[in-house]
Amino acid sequence: MILDCVRPGCINHFDSRGGEIYTLEKRPGGTTEFYWMCPECRREYGLSQLDNGELEVVPKSDLTGQIPPNPKADLRMFPGRFWRRLAA
Ligand SMILES: [Zn+2]
Repeated sequence: MILDCVRPGCINHFDSRGGEIYTLEKRPGGTTEFYWMCPECRREYGLSQLDNGELEVVPKSDLTGQIPPNPKADLRMFPGRFWRRLAA
């Protein structure tokens, strides 16, 4: 369930017109969790998955050299062209 921006301290509520949605596939079980980052935070931050599976909001400058989210992890970006149509 998407409610608010994933960045701690941000108070923006979900808005289907902008931002970025990430999906995290939890294993075992295969349940998928959704996270939303607001347009303001998205300009400066990205979502990354640590080795222990926890999610971390990091400055975009720290994501240099890797494609956020980590393509080898279970965290993925959910293309806006799909979810915006669903949320509209
Ligand atoms: Zn935010």
